[in-house]
Order: sequence, then C-alpha cells, then structure tokens
Amino acid sequence: MKQKVIIFSAPSGSGKTTLVKHGLSVVPELCFSISATTREPRGEEKHADDYYFLTPEEFRTKISQNEFVEFEEVYTDKYYGTLKSEVERIWNEGKVVIFDVDVKGGIRLKEIFGDKALSIFVMPPSIAELERRLISRNTDCSETIKTRVEKAGEEMTYQKHFDKIIINTDLDVAKAEVEKIINNFIND
Ligand code: 5GP
Repeated sequence: MKQKVIIFSAPSGSGKTTLVKHGLSVVPELCFSISATTREPRGEEKHADDYYFLTPEEFRTKISQNEFVEFEEVYTDKYYGTLKSEVERIWNEGKVVIFDVDVKGGIRLKEIFGDKALSIFVMPPSIAELERRLISRNTDCSETIKTRVEKAGEEMTYQKHFDKIIINTDLDVAKAEVEKIINNFIND
C-alpha cells in the first residue's frame, strides 16, 4: 500500500464525524489519526481513542518539540493538533491515514501531503440546518453554538481548496458517496 492520507474537513455539525466513522467501518485499510486537544472530553469520549486529551502546558511542550504536523488554536485557548507520531504509526501498519480536522487544518494537511492526500469537504445543506443539528446534538452551550455557526459561514467559503465536496443532505446518500470516493482513491 502506498503512503496515503484522507482528509475530512467541514464546519462542525455538518455530519463529518459520522461520515469518518462510516468510512472506518466499511474500509478496513483506513486507520484514524487521533489528534491532540486541550478541550475537555465530551460524553463517552476516551483518552487515546477519540483524542489525546492534554493540558495546555503539555500541548505547548509538544509544539516546542516540533511533534505536530499541524496545529490550530481553534477557539481561544483550545488547541487541536495532528501528531507526526500518528501518521508514522499508521503508515508503519501499512494503512491509510484518515484525518478529521477543521477547515484550516485540512487545507494545511493537503498542502503538506500533496498527491498522497485526498481532501474531502463535507457541507451541511444550509447554515440554518447546521444550527438545528448543533442544537439537537445537545453537547454544546448556546454561546458555543453561536460561535460555531458564525465560524461555519466563513468556513463554507473555503470549499474550493478541497479535492471533493460532499453535501450531506441525506446521510445514507452521503455515506455511499464517501465509500465510493475513498475506495477509488485507495485503489488508484
Ligand atoms: P470537536 O471539539 O467538535 O471535537 O472539534 C472541533 C474542531 O476541531 C472540529 O472541526 C475538528 O475536526 C477539529 N480538529 C480535531 N482535531 C484536529 C486537528 O488535529 N487539527 C485541526 N486543525 N483541527 C482538528
């Protein structure tokens, strides 16, 4: 297997994580790159499974030791970053890396990995629908939702930087599209 990566980016609430999990469940060659973050775990999330949950001090130490492929201060004082060690671990297993990152991170990863990367942008059908989904997900306070919805409007303008766009109107249709796009890329 050639060294390849698949990047999923989207405004949060567009169903990106569901589609990433679907890809992982149907394409055995894929392995998820576990990011590092300083945010608190939500719900059932586990350390070293969903994220490496770090303190800001631990995160900053890793920045100074050049351990990240890319990192982002997504919200004030909340860091997210892709670890070089994750990409190495997954490639050493002979698998294809799958990233779930924000839009800026996705653009940066595509610049870094070039032809080795397939970048996919997941669009919500509309901003109003995005807001409705974030509210019904019930994991964020109204202030956070407001920030995310504002950010989403700006993020939607970046879709032109991605290789593929998936509009997530009907989840089953989007899942089938993800499966097809990933398999085409892997078998290319
Ligand atoms: P959440 O807090 O909802 O898990 O994630 C917030 C945003 O940060 C999402 O868009 C998520 O994809 C993004 N994110 C997660 N890991 C990384 C990473 O390693 N790098 C970047 N740039 N963004 C990330």
